[in-house]
Amino acid sequence: MASPPRIGISGRVATVDAAARTGVNAAYVASVAAGGGLPLVLSPLAGPDAADALLDGLDGLLLTGGDDLDPAAYGAAPHPKLGPLDPPRDAFEFALYRAARARGRPVLAICRGLQLVNVAHGGTLVQDLPSERPGPVRHAATGRRDARSHPVRLGPGSRVAQACGTGAFDVNSFHHQAIDRLGAGLTVTGHAPDGVVEACEADTGAWMVAVQWHPEELTAAPGPDAALFAAFVRAATN
Ligand code: MN
Repeated sequence: MASPPRIGISGRVATVDAAARTGVNAAYVASVAAGGGLPLVLSPLAGPDAADALLDGLDGLLLTGGDDLDPAAYGAAPHPKLGPLDPPRDAFEFALYRAARARGRPVLAICRGLQLVNVAHGGTLVQDLPSERPGPVRHAATGRRDARSHPVRLGPGSRVAQACGTGAFDVNSFHHQAIDRLGAGLTVTGHAPDGVVEACEADTGAWMVAVQWHPEELTAAPGPDAALFAAFVRAATN
């Protein structure tokens, strides 16, 4: 039997119980494994200069959720409601993304990952939806990570719709930022009812799907979210 595709999962550094630790939320690892991939956690402590060597050993890249991006990356001044930043992680993930695209490796980007991909393509972000784009949809939910809080509608014919199915379905939502100006070479393929971009993908090259919700928290039962991970792993299968 062929070995499963090796999926690198971008991690973070955080202090827990007075010790600096590095890793990812367990749900990302479990969802990659359930989708048929071999999960490999990538620490930003490796540094951006390690991105090319890391990608040489990977078949796909998963960019995960987390802190706000430094708005300097898209030429904006910090908004008063900007959250905590992690510039070393930004630099590591920009380098991973560019290395993955240069090698034609599939990428699945989630939440902060979607925002990072948009900025890597020259786009910009809304730094705080509640103050800059107030609306009826609550994108920054609190509580259970698997609670579905608003619908998304996916564009027919898109890669994300090929994976998840067309039509609308409910997703979880834990973000206060969103895509403002779309980056070059990307197409929006999913929206919330208030017009916030919930999915986009690359126009050319390898499979690259970015989503603003957190499918990794929704894969316990069969459905569009488990299907998205399976499609990503299939795309990474040589
Ligand atoms: Mn949302």
